[in-house]
Amino acid sequence: MSDTHDHKSRLGFLEKEIDLLRVQNQRLSELLSEQERRHRDLEERLSVDARSGLPNHLRLSHELDADLSAARNGTERIAVVILKLDSRMTLMTKTMKPTVIEWILYQTGQRLLEAIGPGDSLYHARDDEFVLVYRSVSDANALRTRIAAAVDVVGKPHVFSGYHLAIGCVAGAAIFPDHGLDRSRLLHNADIALEYARSKGRSVKFFSERIRESVVEKMELQNAILKALESQAIKEISRQFLVFFQPIVTLGEIGKDSVRIERVDAEVLIRWDHPTRGLLGPNLFIPTAEETGLIIPIGNWVLYRTAEILREWSSGALGEVRLSVNISPRQFASDHLFENVKRVMQREGRERLKFEITESCLMDDPMLAVARMGRLKSEGVSFSVDDFGTGYSSLSYLSKLPVSSLKIDQSFVRHIEKSKQDRTIVRTILSLGREMNFDVVCEGVENEQQIRILSEDGCSCIQGYIFGRPMPAQEFRLVCEEFLRKPVSFDRLKALSMANMV
Ligand code: C2E
Ligand code: MG
Ligand code: MG
Repeated sequence: MSDTHDHKSRLGFLEKEIDLLRVQNQRLSELLSEQERRHRDLEERLSVDARSGLPNHLRLSHELDADLSAARNGTERIAVVILKLDSRMTLMTKTMKPTVIEWILYQTGQRLLEAIGPGDSLYHARDDEFVLVYRSVSDANALRTRIAAAVDVVGKPHVFSGYHLAIGCVAGAAIFPDHGLDRSRLLHNADIALEYARSKGRSVKFFSERIRESVVEKMELQNAILKALESQAIKEISRQFLVFFQPIVTLGEIGKDSVRIERVDAEVLIRWDHPTRGLLGPNLFIPTAEETGLIIPIGNWVLYRTAEILREWSSGALGEVRLSVNISPRQFASDHLFENVKRVMQREGRERLKFEITESCLMDDPMLAVARMGRLKSEGVSFSVDDFGTGYSSLSYLSKLPVSSLKIDQSFVRHIEKSKQDRTIVRTILSLGREMNFDVVCEGVENEQQIRILSEDGCSCIQGYIFGRPMPAQEFRLVCEEFLRKPVSFDRLKALSMANMV
C-alpha cells in the first residue's frame, strides 16, 4: 500500500518536473526564435542602405555570388553596371543639409527602380555609387540603350524648395562571362570602364581589353610622375617646368574676312618637359600634384615665373598684357598664398595679375573665399571664376565675391553652332555678366562661326585655339604684336589655330 502511494507521488512529482521542463523548453525555443528574428532584423538592416532603402554592398556580394554560381552551369549572360553620380553630388554633400542628400539618394534609387526590368536588381553600393545587375542579357545594343535610359533618368533635375538640382552620372559595364567569371573581377572591370567613360566625358562605356590598357597606362604614368615629383627636389623639377601663354583677346569690329583685336591678355598654362616622356600637359600631373600637396611648391613656382614675365613685359604692347594664373583649390586654401604674392610680385605687377579660381573651389567655403579674396584684392590682384557653369555657384555669394570676370566653360561653347540649349546657356551667362558687372570670357573657341555667334550674342572676350594654342613667351610676343597691328584675317587665324598642335 505504502509502496503504491510512494510510486504515485513519485509519478506525480516526475509529471510536474516534465511539465516544468516543457515550459522551460517552450520559453527557450521562444527566446531562440526571438533571437533569430532579431538577428534576421539586424542582418536585414545591415544589408540595406538607410537613405535610399535599397540593398547595399553586402547584399550585392551575397546575391551576385549566388547568381554567378547558378549562371556558371548555364548559358545566361549577366551584366554588372556601376553607376556613379558626378562631382556635383560631392559638392552638394559638402554644402547641403543631410536631409536634402538623403532625399536626392532616395529619389535616385526610386527612379532607377523604375528604369530596370523585373528580373534585374539594383543596389546602393557606396555613397555615390549604384550597381545594376541585368540578367539574361542577349543583345548588347539593347542593353546599352537600357543603361543609357538609366543614366538619363538619374540626370533629370530634382526640384526641391524651388531649386532645380541636376546631378549627372556615368556608367561602366562588364559582362559575365566575357569580362570576368567572378564578382570581384566583374566589379573591377566595370570600375575600369567607368573610369574610362569619365576621363573621356562619355556617359556609358563597356569594358574591353583596350580600355583596360589605356586606364592602366594612365595610372602607371601618374605613378611615375608622382615618383619623379617626390624624389626630386622642387628646384630640380622647376628646371623642367615651363609656362606657356594662350591669348585672351578683346574683339573690335568683325568684317567679312577679318577681325580687329583691341586688346590681348593671356592665360598662363604650365607644361612639364619631362626628360624621358617629353612635353606633358597639366591634366597629366596637376591632379596628382593637387592630391599629394606638391601643387603648393609647383604653384609657387608658376607665380614666381609669372612675376618674372610681368617684369620683362613692362613696355610697349606687352606692357599692357594682363596675365591670368590658375590657382588650385589647395593653393587657394593655403595660408601662405597671400604672403607668396607679396613676396614674389612687385606692387605695380599685381595690377596686371589675375587669379583663375574654379567655381567649385569658391563654393566650398564661400565665407572663407570672400575673406581671402578681399585680402588679395587689397594687394591689387583681381579674380576670374574659371570653368563657369560646371559647378554650383550661388548667385548671392557670387555677387559678394570680389570677382571681375567669369570664364564660360568650353563644354558650352564646343557645340554652340548646333546646340540651341548650349547657346541659351551662354547667352544667359552673358546677360548675367552684364547685369552683375562682370567681364565674360568664352573659352574653347575654335572656329570663325563660333566667333560670329558669340559676338552676335554680346561676347567680345574670347580664348581658344582660333586665336592661338598655348605657346612659349617668344611666340606670344610676336602673335600679340601681330594682333594689335591691324585686323587679322580669318585665314590667318585658321592657320594659327593649327600651329603647335602638340
Ligand atoms: P583651364 O584653366 O580651363 O585652361 C584652359 C584649357 O583649355 C587649357 O588646357 C587650354 O589649352 C585648353 N584650351 C584652350 N582653348 C581651347 C580650345 O579652343 N579647344 C580645346 N579643346 N581646348 C582649349 P591645358 O593647358 O591642358 O590646361 C588644362 C587645365 O590644367 C587648365 O584648365 C587648368 O585647370 C590646369 N592648369 C594649367 N596650368 C596650371 C597651373 O599653373 N596651376 C594649376 N593649379 N592648374 C593649371
Ligand atoms: Mg584656367
Ligand atoms: Mg577653364
